[in-house]
Amino acid sequence: MTCYDCGKKISQHEHKESFGDLGVVLCERHTKLIKRIILNNNTPLEAIQLFYALKEKGAQPMLEWWDGNKSVDIAFSRVKLNIEIDSEYNLITHEQAIRDLEEAMYSFKNGFTTVRIPHLTIKYYLEDTVNNVLGIITALKTNMKVI
Ligand SMILES: [Zn+2]
Repeated sequence: MTCYDCGKKISQHEHKESFGDLGVVLCERHTKLIKRIILNNNTPLEAIQLFYALKEKGAQPMLEWWDGNKSVDIAFSRVKLNIEIDSEYNLITHEQAIRDLEEAMYSFKNGFTTVRIPHLTIKYYLEDTVNNVLGIITALKTNMKVI
């Protein structure tokens, strides 16, 4: 068993600690690092799982990327794609909805595309979610070349 992040061999204990708490297999150092990111940003666990699933496919996502206004759950700055994980999709209030729309407007103004993904999509359809995100990245790359 090796760390998803650095490829270092990990112990049974490290596996239990990281997979049990985060749902991804990480060494002690990376488990600590990710837990600190979660504490600082209130990052949903599904964002961590999607981040590593995307990395595994050869993509280069950034976790909790500061865009100048706010921290984005997952970002691909080269193609200007922001991904936000909605952790309480069913409980969205009208205030949250209008804030989301406003945020989307600002990111479009800066040339960024924001995709919101409900956390349940990652929980139940991780592979499909990853494939769709990779498809979006490919499409954005193609569109950039056209311009
Ligand atoms: Zn590691």
